[in-house]
Amino acid sequence: MAERASWSLGNALRGIFAAKTIDDDTWDDLEAALITADFGPAVTEEIVERIRADVDRYKTTDPRDVQRMLREIVEERLAKYDPTLKLTERPAVVLVVGVNGVGKTTTIGKFARFLRTYDRSVVVGAADTFRAAAVDQLATWAERAGASIVRPEREGQDPASVAFQTVEKAKHDGTEIVIIDTAGRLHTKGGLMDELGKIKRVVEKQAPISEVLLVLDATTGQNGLAQAEAFIEHGGVTGLVLTKLDGSAKGGFVLAVQEKTGLPIKLIGQGEGINDLTGFTPHVFAQKLVG
Ligand code: GDP
Ligand code: GDP
Ligand code: MG
Repeated sequence: MAERASWSLGNALRGIFAAKTIDDDTWDDLEAALITADFGPAVTEEIVERIRADVDRYKTTDPRDVQRMLREIVEERLAKYDPTLKLTERPAVVLVVGVNGVGKTTTIGKFARFLRTYDRSVVVGAADTFRAAAVDQLATWAERAGASIVRPEREGQDPASVAFQTVEKAKHDGTEIVIIDTAGRLHTKGGLMDELGKIKRVVEKQAPISEVLLVLDATTGQNGLAQAEAFIEHGGVTGLVLTKLDGSAKGGFVLAVQEKTGLPIKLIGQGEGINDLTGFTPHVFAQKLVG
């Protein structure tokens, strides 16, 4: 992670933590900083109330105690969800879903590379078959990552049949991990959900689906979450991937998104490069966020 990530609260909180004492300004500034970082009004109020109560209880006047309390509360709340990827099946099938442009294909490239560095064999399936360019984009990433790819035999081929062929190839070759790229846009949401449902049914004829990862663009924060609602309601999502944290000022979204969806964050993307993907570690994240 970058030394001073854009989503860090560092600048917004520096004034508070450097002040000589705790007073009313402390609470106003803390509230403003948390709202700006997209924690959302409800979570912000809960956090500020809890720190105020603890400050009263311990009778401290040292703003650095506020910082420590904030870091501990954020870590405790982030850690309520299990970020572990469940990839023990062979093959382990991972479906990657989300609206257009959030970073699904890029994430698959980075994720394939991440798995290859742990010596897992990987095949990716190009089940976003609508545009030839989408298939080529995935193929480029697969090559860079050292993964194999199953492409549609023709443009517009049924995405479910590509997914089927990808799992079939993995079983035939003994490949450990299958990652399926999917479309983010159809003329109706219902159409897209039907397509995903069909992909799942067809894949499950061959192997259980280990993970359905919903990709969310962190720069759109809580607004972007609304667009992804259909996936959460109908998609059988098992985990979240937050992308573009490198360009986001919305570090608080990380906490809000888990609590709003009840789903764990499993991966975070912080750049367009092949190595810019990491697992999600609440302790590390809370430290970087609060300082
Ligand atoms: P898809 O439509 O969901 O498959 O999205 P793409 O993978 O094609 O990505 C859309 C754009 O977001 C591309 O320009 C990517 O380079 C960019 N992108 C994806 N992930 C990240 C990230 O973590 N950080 C940044 N800065 N850009 C990203
Ligand atoms: P627009 O006119 O460019 O906005 O395209 P539409 O959204 O109306 O889609 C035209 C057709 O392409 C529809 O029948 C959709 O089923 C299909 N379509 C659109 N986007 C995608 C996509 O991302 N993947 C797949 N597989 N099909 C798509
Ligand atoms: Mg894509």
